Amino acid sequence: MPMKIDAKLGLDVFKLDKEPHIVIDTEVCNTVCTDDACLYVCPADLYERDDQGRMTVNWEGCLECGTCLICCDPRALSWKYPGGPYGVQYRMS
Ligand code: SF4
Ligand code: SF4
Repeated sequence: MPMKIDAKLGLDVFKLDKEPHIVIDTEVCNTVCTDDACLYVCPADLYERDDQGRMTVNWEGCLECGTCLICCDPRALSWKYPGGPYGVQYRMS
């Protein structure tokens, strides 16, 4: 039977940098954004609003696909690849 996506993603390994490679300008999110696109496009479901309604991203689990950057029309995201040896390491079953 083919593996489900959650099981496949569970095989990946993440080596975390000290600094986040994605930073959100939450002021832009709350004043300009009309669609919260990041909530719907991230394949790892890493975006969520906190108790105060601020958009957050759990960058530690980022798959480095860049989809959120492309879909954020108001340009609220500062996005770069993790430095050096950091970031996601894909594993195949
Ligand atoms: S799509 Fe961009 S501007 Fe809109 S909530 Fe997400 S990060 Fe903020
Ligand atoms: S780059 Fe891809 S996996 Fe990482 S936060 Fe953006 S949409 Fe999610």
